[in-house]
Amino acid sequence: MSGTYSFFQGVERNFDKASVYTRFEKGILEQIKACNSVYRMKFPVRIGDQVEVIEAYRVQHSHHKLPCKGGIRYSMDVNQDEVMALAALMTYKCAIVNVPFGGAKGGIKIDPKRYTPFELEKITRRYASELVKKNFIGAGIDVPAPDYGTGAREMSWIADTFASLNPGDINALGCVTGKPVSQGGVTGRTEATGLGIFYGVREVVNVAEDMDKIGLSTGIAGKRVVIQGLGNVGYHAAKFFSEAGAILVGLAEFEGGIFSEKGLNLEDVVAHRKTTGSILGFPGATDIRNSLDTLELDCDILIPAALEAVITAENAPRIKAKIIGEGANGPLTPDADIILNAKGTIVVPDMYLNAGGVTVSYFEWLKNLSHVRFGRLDKRFSENQNASILQSFETMIGKKMDEAERKQIMHGPDEIDLVYSGLEDTMIGSYHEIRESLLTSGADDLRTAAFVVSINKVGVAYEQLGIFP
Ligand code: GLU
Repeated sequence: MSGTYSFFQGVERNFDKASVYTRFEKGILEQIKACNSVYRMKFPVRIGDQVEVIEAYRVQHSHHKLPCKGGIRYSMDVNQDEVMALAALMTYKCAIVNVPFGGAKGGIKIDPKRYTPFELEKITRRYASELVKKNFIGAGIDVPAPDYGTGAREMSWIADTFASLNPGDINALGCVTGKPVSQGGVTGRTEATGLGIFYGVREVVNVAEDMDKIGLSTGIAGKRVVIQGLGNVGYHAAKFFSEAGAILVGLAEFEGGIFSEKGLNLEDVVAHRKTTGSILGFPGATDIRNSLDTLELDCDILIPAALEAVITAENAPRIKAKIIGEGANGPLTPDADIILNAKGTIVVPDMYLNAGGVTVSYFEWLKNLSHVRFGRLDKRFSENQNASILQSFETMIGKKMDEAERKQIMHGPDEIDLVYSGLEDTMIGSYHEIRESLLTSGADDLRTAAFVVSINKVGVAYEQLGIFP
């Protein structure tokens, strides 16, 4: 809960704000907003010498396109409202980046740190078989993925459970994404959300006209960045920002934050946390005892990449960042949004900015359904073509390229090249769709503009589905 409304009601509020800039009738808007199916389950798992009753959810927010898609989180904060809100965001997210799926989300109410890998495997496999029982999983039905507290390991347990309960299903591996590459995963999925955040913010920062308005120069190099959360999303975002020359002035985790005007070396911070168990006490940095205070540091770009509702009406007035990139889902409450929009802060919304994960999940699903690795058919062909073009060119100019240049020009695409370029193109294209909507729809902030884009796409799909007479 944040203020007087829940997370799901917050998403609905943002939706309502945007829907006035669309042409759809009330009934269609109500249908887009509604969660189509909510499955709450309770199942027993023997942990040590006791039976624990586990509470879990899978919510399919929209069936306007199938399969439904969205991660599964393991956290003690999981509840029906949260899963519904996250499932709804998945619908809008997929629409924004033109991934042809409906939105879904799952959650198991556990603290994964309290269980051994063996116990987690039992819980995960039981959850997967509950989904199978109710036809809530499958390559054409609903395709889970990692989220907060889960990763490739959990996804491979789900894939294996599904495959063993569906013998002969040739598309069984397409029932879940974010799998290890050895189990049908795609290269680049692990870092996809963080990389998408980087590509998205880089595009925002590349528009000179918009940067002039907030007094920033274009380009990522030299920008002062603060990142909250060093999980898979935050860590990879931090990595790509620092590789592009940004200065990581602040980093935050559960136990606190650290600050250094000169910049923090990400790998050294991660190593320090691994050996000491805490981000605090990093040599040369100032400790910030209350982790949330890190969000208020003076910086150009702030990336909250942990959980929802960390920026509220209470702390929003003290946020100094000129750009906030929502790495997490729902890190700003609608009240915080109002305050930051009034200050002129550019808020790059979650449903666009963290869509890199689901975009690459889509690539993984395509790979599973096509049963072939990207690049397998065309890599050698491209290299041969490039070699012959290069040869003609060298003959023409009467000069040979040096070995490094030759290699670079001749290189045919590997899976990772195609995944990265597909992701980059998606993030660039979708940002300009949202920006265009901001300029033309009447919406006056990026989140509302993004909702307008999504509502338009999902609304048209519902109209074309036909409504039962
Ligand atoms: N859990 C991620 C998200 O919130 C990824 C979902 C997916 O890949 O399906 O977007």
